[in-house]
Amino acid sequence: MKKVAVIGCGSYMDSGNGCPGEWRCLKAASLGDGNFEEPSQVVAFIRCECPGRATATNMGLAIKLSEIKPDVIYLSSCCAKAKPGCPYSDPEEKAKIIEEKTGIKVVLGTHDYH
Ligand code: SF4
Repeated sequence: MKKVAVIGCGSYMDSGNGCPGEWRCLKAASLGDGNFEEPSQVVAFIRCECPGRATATNMGLAIKLSEIKPDVIYLSSCCAKAKPGCPYSDPEEKAKIIEEKTGIKVVLGTHDYH
């Protein structure tokens, strides 16, 4: 089973909307739905916080402190695809920064649930 880490948008999480961080990414990972190729183990789930400068560092810290290196890192759908989008950086740019920091592939988006 793949080990995955997820980064959620803290701004969306704070607004609730019946999810952010509560179930959608976790359900998709558990079932292998959406962008997850197979049922996957979520070994870390961190919040991006505006303006997102600490996100790559916090992901690196989660990997270091948990002593578990995920196979893939996901930017949640609310991070990568929500409209209106992130006003601070585009998802591709954020993914590149995280990949450079961790050496781990970053996938844009987790699920297509509404
Ligand atoms: S910087 Fe962007 S992705 Fe990160 S919490 Fe703020 S709005 Fe969300």
